[in-house]
Amino acid sequence: MKIAFIGLGNMGGPMALNLHKAGHSVSAFDLSSAACETLRAQGVPIADSAAGAVAGAEAVVSMLPASQHVESLYLGEGGLLAKLAPGALVIDSSTIAAGTSRKLAEAGAARGIAVIDAPVSGGTGGAIAGTLTFMVGGSEADLERARPLLEKMGANIFHAGGAGAGQTAKICNNMLLGILMVGTSEAIALGVANGLDPKVLSEIMRRSSGGNWALEKYNPLPGVMENAPASKGYAGGFGTDLMLKDLGLAQENATAVKAATPLGGMARNLYAAHSLGGHGALDFSSVIKLFQKAG
Ligand code: NAD
Repeated sequence: MKIAFIGLGNMGGPMALNLHKAGHSVSAFDLSSAACETLRAQGVPIADSAAGAVAGAEAVVSMLPASQHVESLYLGEGGLLAKLAPGALVIDSSTIAAGTSRKLAEAGAARGIAVIDAPVSGGTGGAIAGTLTFMVGGSEADLERARPLLEKMGANIFHAGGAGAGQTAKICNNMLLGILMVGTSEAIALGVANGLDPKVLSEIMRRSSGGNWALEKYNPLPGVMENAPASKGYAGGFGTDLMLKDLGLAQENATAVKAATPLGGMARNLYAAHSLGGHGALDFSSVIKLFQKAG
């Protein structure tokens, strides 16, 4: 299948590479020339613009930071919806507001273009390994059209409901992830302040009732887990500012439906303070710095 892939960052880069390796004809583009060069070096054809990437494409996959980027890519002046042929399929895997996904799906339907929201979980490790979890919003029929592509990038594909439902599932998951990373960080910091070996403590909690995904795959303390972003200077991974965006989306949604999300609100404020401290570009597990002595 001829696929355009837009957004080649920490997640989009390895996802595009997996589609290319699976034998699809991928034409990729990112505003960052460094991101383009990384993919070009791995054999993925790079277009000179988003419009160039979608020329003749049967499907588009996008992996952009936030709602405003997705709106301007597809709906803005000269947006991609106006350039795609009727019958094309759009898979937006960015984590954005559910309302924006619904707006995009409606604008697509008006032009005969199928749009699904398909945000992911699994981190950069899952993107590289092709084991992501996709949470899809849209029609059953459009999900079935997308499935052969999603299967090349992920291991679990869930149909959450109609347009926007994938995004709602994603912000519920990420609100929980944001909370548990803060909780895991403060527990490790407490143990370390009491002289415990962080590796021993992490292993005790991982195998006890406090066990969770952060302790399994993403320990926030440098040196505990070799492959976690914490051990690589908190580079790559999932940026603090992206987690802050997701927790903001969760709070906006909670306000709209009058849900009580006190821990989600507190977690958003902690990541906001961490970002204000100059750590917005670091992986979100660096939030442990809030609980450590400086220096
Ligand atoms: P990133 O910042 O590493 O990559 C985003 C890329 O989009 C950048 O390279 C940027 O240059 C590019 N971009 C922005 N606007 C563009 C445009 N108009 N045209 C072309 N390229 C454009 O972000 P990421 O970590 O890859 O995350 C992407 C999305 O996936 C976000 O919505 C994030 O919340 C979500 N997500 C991230 C992770 C993770 O672990 N990093 C996990 C799950 C979901």
